[in-house]
Amino acid sequence: SEFKKKIKEANMHQEVMQKAERELSRLAKMSSYNPESSYIRTYLEWLVDLPWKITDKKNADVDFAAKVLDQDHYGLPKVKERILEYLAVHKLVGKIRGPILCFYGPPGVGKTSIGKSIARALDRKFIRVSLGVIHDEAEIRGHRRTYVGAMPGRVIQGIKNAGTKNPVFMLDEIDKIGTDFRGDPSSALLEALDPEQNNAFSDHYLEVAYDLSDVMFITTANILDTIPPALRDRLEIINFPGYTEEEKFHIAKNFLIGKQLESHGLAKIKIDLSDAALREIISKYTREAGVRELEREIAAILRKVAKKIASNKGYKNIKIGPRQLKIYLGPHKFSKTIAEKQDEIGMSTGLSVTSSGGEILFVEVTIMPGKGNLILTGQLGNVMKESAQAALSYIKSRATVISLSNIDFSKVDVHIHVPEGAVPKEGPSAGIAITTALVSALTKI
Ligand code: ADP
Repeated sequence: SEFKKKIKEANMHQEVMQKAERELSRLAKMSSYNPESSYIRTYLEWLVDLPWKITDKKNADVDFAAKVLDQDHYGLPKVKERILEYLAVHKLVGKIRGPILCFYGPPGVGKTSIGKSIARALDRKFIRVSLGVIHDEAEIRGHRRTYVGAMPGRVIQGIKNAGTKNPVFMLDEIDKIGTDFRGDPSSALLEALDPEQNNAFSDHYLEVAYDLSDVMFITTANILDTIPPALRDRLEIINFPGYTEEEKFHIAKNFLIGKQLESHGLAKIKIDLSDAALREIISKYTREAGVRELEREIAAILRKVAKKIASNKGYKNIKIGPRQLKIYLGPHKFSKTIAEKQDEIGMSTGLSVTSSGGEILFVEVTIMPGKGNLILTGQLGNVMKESAQAALSYIKSRATVISLSNIDFSKVDVHIHVPEGAVPKEGPSAGIAITTALVSALTKI
């Protein structure tokens, strides 16, 4: 009778209600020793707990949303603009039609926290599910009830946790979703995301369709290449490019320090972290595109301050300048990679893109007596290997123009090395750097 009451109160659709009542009458006839009874019980609990009609207030005020986004985040003007446009269209149409937003960028650039702000701006619940470890379709769509320990998939679980039908639902790391023998989770995911078909999302466990069309899905990705094409096709990519040192400085000053002071119980204590010290943390203790490491270093300082204060009453004013940093954080962790101070024959400086923004890298070439071999070391990827071959061929074909006709290429070996030999490198743009180093080594200029 408890279930009967709950089913009535759950505000289900006709079809779901009938299903629930049928299961309930099966349960009623069953001996409580029958192992199946506990399965049915769990199933009914899922049905009555899901928010079938509960929604948070719809239609956000775009001006208010703009204010919230600015309050929570420094910079990111393009991202904010695009989000506001999206919300404006959403408001006019009333439903989410069209592409799904995908926040794309390196870790720690504020993708998740912007998602949270959107939820706050729209006054909706925020739910986040990481897809990073999902290889199995059942993780998205649930297991059939015949399996022992069957459960609905992550989407329905998320909705239940939200308790409303229209949360902001963030699917993290959509680029890490895998496909293997256990089925293709991306097609199940597509069914959940696609506004054309997600008004009747079928979860294997639930067996009844659930309407996801009011959910605002946002996905995040660190790289785009690995997103399955069918999925990629539906995404509208919003690029979070990473921050400059100047931007990091402002983010730390206006947001991170305050947040960390609060969470370390130091909000009332006067701590003077000088601008110079902050800049030094950014350049000498972190190397990243986002600000997560920076936030951790600030937290590390504040932990030590908290310890001092907690063990030594009456500590009031604390000054932290560049000189104190070494005491708090130890020796510098990074020095700027410096281009070799002196020009050298057979060496060039190239640029590379890394997950933390960019780096300079060196190409070293040495020529020795041999049999016309090209030796490549430094864990170069296939494209870089081809660049090196192309560079050598180019030089051979222009030998007279660059005054190399005196060299018999069949009697020398060319060795090209790209240092930090243990780090795999790949990219299509090293050709000029390699060619330059080669010409330098051959001409001895
Ligand atoms: P991501 O999801 O991109 O990996 P997060 O959203 O978790 O990164 O951001 C990491 C931290 O950096 C959070 O504490 C977030 O509030 C902060 N942060 C990132 N960008 C900004 C910004 N532009 N303004 C204020 N805080 C930011």
